Amino acid sequence: MLDIVKVVDVPESAEIIFINTCAIRDNAEQKSLHPPKVVVLGCMAERLKDKILDADKMVDVVCGPDAYRDLPRLLEEVEYGQKGINILLSLEETYADISPVRISKNSISAFVSVMRGCNNMCSFCIVPFTRGRERSRPVDSIVKEVAELWKEGVKEVTLLGQNVNSYNDASEIEKEVETGMNWKYSDGFSSMCKVKEVGLRFSDLLDRLSSEFPEMRFRYTSPHPKDFPDDLLYVMRNRHNICKSIHLPAQTGSSAVLERMRRGYTREAYLDLVQKIRRIIPDVGITSDFISGFCGETEEEHEDTLSLVKAVGYDMAYMFAYSMREKTHAHRTYVDDVPDEVKQRRLAELIEAFRESTGQCFDSQIGSVQLVLVEGPNKRAPDTELIGKSDRGHRVLFTNLPLPNQNEDGSQARNPVVGDYVEVLIMKSTRASLFGEALAITTLSSFYNNLDQEAVANAS
Ligand code: SF4
Repeated sequence: MLDIVKVVDVPESAEIIFINTCAIRDNAEQKSLHPPKVVVLGCMAERLKDKILDADKMVDVVCGPDAYRDLPRLLEEVEYGQKGINILLSLEETYADISPVRISKNSISAFVSVMRGCNNMCSFCIVPFTRGRERSRPVDSIVKEVAELWKEGVKEVTLLGQNVNSYNDASEIEKEVETGMNWKYSDGFSSMCKVKEVGLRFSDLLDRLSSEFPEMRFRYTSPHPKDFPDDLLYVMRNRHNICKSIHLPAQTGSSAVLERMRRGYTREAYLDLVQKIRRIIPDVGITSDFISGFCGETEEEHEDTLSLVKAVGYDMAYMFAYSMREKTHAHRTYVDDVPDEVKQRRLAELIEAFRESTGQCFDSQIGSVQLVLVEGPNKRAPDTELIGKSDRGHRVLFTNLPLPNQNEDGSQARNPVVGDYVEVLIMKSTRASLFGEALAITTLSSFYNNLDQEAVANAS
């Protein structure tokens, strides 16, 4: 495909404009139903193919999320005056050998897709119908892509997948067809879909990446809480370059609503998992997703969600008022009976509960020394301040001054540059950002080796 598509910097000079779409929430779908463009990609394309092609005559190609490899042929069809359409979902497509074109060449962070699709059937969710079944890229192909990124100067990679920690590379393992007995879920969690071929799991992938690229940071999103077996938590604890930040979508704090949502866990199991994560990985940041006003949600069930937020103490969360999606189990089975104004009021209460919880998480960092990966100047004070991200994902600002370099004996102090790791003593929190005093330029390994040595000295 890349042979025929040349990426341009100026949108006005493009001959073809691709619009990637997402059908997960209704709002996004409404906004992009009338694109003045010719090629519509992604899962909305898959879902609304007839509407897009028939109603919007200007659209020439509709290409589902698994059909990117077919784009040259689809574009050729247009040359011959036809509409190009391929919305078939695949059981195998992982885009393993397609290297994404990175528009910002100087960026120090990148996303790497490691798996696609979802085998769960949460009753509110359209993803299994638009993105298909789970399939994972082979570990070797991921390692190869990360190696390329490392060569280009990337220092932080976020591994992506609809259920990223359900990663299962069975490509080179002698297949253990049928039982799924070796698939270990988080305690108290279950899934409607049994795993048939158990291969290399997400902990194996993280283990390999973190050991082969010790100076590169790894994050991942979006995981499902059911797939946090102990060995994943221990790999995260033991490898300093796997960021101590876990997204743990709860969706609601009520066991009854969880059951209607078909999430495969209870409030108690979720809270036990949070406790276990914090026991194994101290100072981990936890983030989440929540839906307000799901079908049949009572005031009491909503209160359960507010109390869960307070009990866990999240760093951040994505929160939405429920919007019913066609094709889903909820659409077939339940009534969307919580009035809009009630959904909005509950959402506002949820956001308020979060402000408190998030603020406390930020404040708790004051006085600590954080390893910050420098991302660039602070746009509000570009000449004097730098901005970066801590291991836990907090935004950290600090004054741009010459600093000693811990790893170069006798070298002159210099100002940090994009991609440097800097030790920062956190002095202040605005509850949305942290402000600190930069102490030294360092490397990821030496920062954590020093911390380990200090911990041993304090213990003896
Ligand atoms: S786990 Fe549930 S919410 Fe997440 S993508 Fe799959 S069906 Fe949707």
